[in-house]
This record gives sequence, C-alpha cells and structure tokens, in this order.
Amino acid sequence: MDLTLPVPAPQYKNPTQKARVSTEPWAVANLYCPNCSSPRLDPLKPNTPASDFVCPLCEERFQLKSGRSPFGARIADAAYSKMVEAIRKDQTPNIFALHYDMKKWTVSNLTLIPRFAYSLKDIFKRPPLSPAAERHDWVGCDILLGAIPRSARIPVVSDGLPASSVAVRREFQRLKPLHRVKSKARGWTLDVLLIVESLQKREFHLDEVYAHEAELRALHVLNRHVKPKIRQQLQQLRDLGFLTFLAPGHYRLS
Ligand SMILES: [Zn+2]
Repeated sequence: MDLTLPVPAPQYKNPTQKARVSTEPWAVANLYCPNCSSPRLDPLKPNTPASDFVCPLCEERFQLKSGRSPFGARIADAAYSKMVEAIRKDQTPNIFALHYDMKKWTVSNLTLIPRFAYSLKDIFKRPPLSPAAERHDWVGCDILLGAIPRSARIPVVSDGLPASSVAVRREFQRLKPLHRVKSKARGWTLDVLLIVESLQKREFHLDEVYAHEAELRALHVLNRHVKPKIRQQLQQLRDLGFLTFLAPGHYRLS
C-alpha cells in the first residue's frame, strides 16, 4: 500500500473537492477487499446510494469517508434516508474512514468499520441545511464512532504505518460472526461489548456489567428487562467468540 496521495490540480479550491479528487483515485489504486482475496475494489457509479466501491469478487460494498483531522466522536456521512434504507435492507456498507495529511498529501490513518459493527442507532440525523442553501432539502447524517466498540474497528493504517492485508483480513473474519446477529438485535450486542471494553479488564464479573444498567436502559427505553438482556448478550458474545465463560458470572475477553 502506497500512502502517498495524488496532489489535487490547482483548479480545485474547495477542500471537500480537493479531498475527493485525491482520495478516490488513491482508493482505486490501493484498497483491497478485507473479505476475500481480491487485490482491488471497483468504483461504483457516482451517486450510488450509500456506497462508493464494490468488490468484484465477493460483492461487498464500501463507503470511503475522508477527513483532514483525525475522526473524533462522529463521521459525517451521506444522505440520512439512503443510509437508513441500506441498513434496513441489510445492505449496510463497510466504511473506510481515511484521515489524511493535507500538507504532505499522505494517508495518516485508515480505519475499517465493518458493516456488521454498527447499527441504525449509530446513525444520527443531522439538521437540514439552511433554506437558502443550494441543496436545502438534503439531510445528511453522522455515524457515531464513539458508539462503535473499539474492538469492532479495524486499523488498516495507523500513524502512517499500514497493517498487513493478512492482519486486516483476519480481523474482518474475526468480527464477521456479528453478521449472524440480526441487524436490529446487533445494537444490544455491540452496546454490551462496548461496556465490557470500557471496564478495561481482561476478566470481569457480571456485577460490573450490571453497574451500567442505567446506561443501557437509556439506550433501549422500550426494554424493561435490562439485566436478563445483559446476560443474554453475554451469551451471544460468548457464542460469537468474543468472550469465554470462566465460572458463573465470571468472564474473560478473548
Ligand atoms: Zn471481496
């Protein structure tokens, strides 16, 4: 993977435009499929809803999001309605979040968020553009990066160092069982995983997860049986290979 980005031609003044004409050709030349052995991804027609690239072998879809500064708590994404529709149809795209250095025109960080690592509740509808704006009826969305467990995001480039494609593909396969959880229930699974990670312990007790009951209740207001749901999700995470059960109420992160 060559981390040098093509320098945009001087006629491009708008930063978003400059980023697009630089990162898109870079992606065509450098991105590979994390799901199969394809060494490349093909660009989709402009304006394809919610996706920019497709794997010519396995047909996984990808979105590329670029930013001049490291991604914080959220990633500004495409049209809200298209994204929601894609998720509901279980055609959620995988997301490549690319942070680039605008002075040197190089890739600093690239994170892959697999499609099964986020759900509808991680998509935040942005306020519509002002009535005076050219596309005033367009409503964008943000992906809440902070709501996606760290262990469910795959580093492809970290601080200017690319990971090997073998490592990226191995991580993708490790997370792939999450796909078996229906997209509606996946929110719960990922929320419980996020809490387990926040404990910052390799081994933990059920009570430590129960201590976050109020947080989960706030996220899932319609569910009044939070504790049984926590136990069910811990079982789910065990079945998916994220956890091992050591003794009743005692777990270890894999
Ligand atoms: Zn593929």
